Amino acid sequence: MKKVYEKPVITKLETGFMNKFGGSPLYARKIRKDIDGVPVSELVERYGSPLFVISERKLRERYRKIYNAFSSRYPNVQFGWSYKTNYLKAVCSVLHQEGAIAEVVSAFEYEKARNLGIDGKNIIFNGPHKTLDILEKAASEGAMIHIDHFDEIIDLEKIADRLGKKIKVAIRVNMDTGIHPQWDRFGFNLETGQALDAVKRIATGGKLVLNGLHSHIGTFILEPEAYGKEVEKLVKLAYEIEDNFGFKIEYLDIGGGFPSKNKLKGTYLPPDVLVPSVEEYAEKITEALYSNLRPGDFPKLILETGRAIIDEAEYLITTIFASKRLPDGRKAYIADAGVNILFTAFWYKFNIEIDREVQGTNEPSVIYGPLCMNIDVIDDGTMLPPLERGTRLIISPVGAYNNTQWMQFIEYRPNVVMIMEDGSVEIVREREDISDIERRERLPEKLRINQ
Ligand SMILES: *Cc1c(COP(=O)(O)O)cnc(C)c1O
Repeated sequence: MKKVYEKPVITKLETGFMNKFGGSPLYARKIRKDIDGVPVSELVERYGSPLFVISERKLRERYRKIYNAFSSRYPNVQFGWSYKTNYLKAVCSVLHQEGAIAEVVSAFEYEKARNLGIDGKNIIFNGPHKTLDILEKAASEGAMIHIDHFDEIIDLEKIADRLGKKIKVAIRVNMDTGIHPQWDRFGFNLETGQALDAVKRIATGGKLVLNGLHSHIGTFILEPEAYGKEVEKLVKLAYEIEDNFGFKIEYLDIGGGFPSKNKLKGTYLPPDVLVPSVEEYAEKITEALYSNLRPGDFPKLILETGRAIIDEAEYLITTIFASKRLPDGRKAYIADAGVNILFTAFWYKFNIEIDREVQGTNEPSVIYGPLCMNIDVIDDGTMLPPLERGTRLIISPVGAYNNTQWMQFIEYRPNVVMIMEDGSVEIVREREDISDIERRERLPEKLRINQ
């Protein structure tokens, strides 16, 4: 093959990191030839590039590790799988098989859980936008409805009249746990007394039965102590309600928000150092339960952890399509996956591995996606050896929020496969083609082109 001429440039060598082959030992650790024993080359040959790859084994491992951290410390624990984090059927099914119920935040997600065979009573229905239709369906199917605002109380009372029965509900509460910015737009605020006003309103109406409290303090929360504060405040509120309004609070849902081992942009320390272990979260949370609950009282503890379970169980394989030299001397690569399918690239500095040994010196490199858009950057500065066209990059962790927030923009969305525990590979979402995109379009007769 004839090599393309490239104008010489002067780049700084990271001599301190070099080994005798001229490569960095750092980068030497970043070669990955397989995922769960299946060669990267085989995956791409069979399913194309880019390709999302989910590890069933890793997913079950992550679930069990996090669940056990809580169930070994507290006798009454239930996980709810946050659909918006990744609602591929295969992912939800694995987690439902592990024992999680569903946590949904829209009519669409509610229908998705029902389609998968989840009973209404095993669906937690959160979110600020629940239309009357879906709210009535959820109420009649016995879903766990978490009220977000006063208008929802009114809607639910109407529905209770229509159904001719009292509806069990919980309220979402937001509060100061020391995390800033405080998530104060969902649910009723605790410190201003709004949460208690909501309880009074529910009690006065007499049509709803309050049996749970919910809060979700944010996402990628690096402070285990914030959850300790959350639990303390929720337990106190629960007893205030039980003592003054006669409702029995059967469960406390403390939401999600635990971080994954992903690296936030702008942080210096690696995630292994920066991100507390799940045991530290479990310890703070159960400590707060035991020091605030009355003796013998063990309300159900519900967790809706999303990111921390799925993020590390998924990889994205992408292929180097071309390279170029930027005016500032940096090397740039164009990959076949970009922010269209990797939404979390806006926050994360991913772990990027290469599918083969490469000779040559590391130099600062930028990785762009395929879009004709300036914002399409996967990594704006990482040390890479010279990569040939066709080199595969394995990007991780990518399991959280990418398969839900991805967009069909400029390119099709690719195949998603799952490597099963038995080593077989299954497609869990097929790559799109033009028919998927145009199926919903209508071209008015007058606009037809006659050529
Ligand atoms: C998004 C969301 C979750 C999951 O959050 P993670 O940060 O992915 O753990 C849980 N509960 C509610 C109400 C949510 O909106």
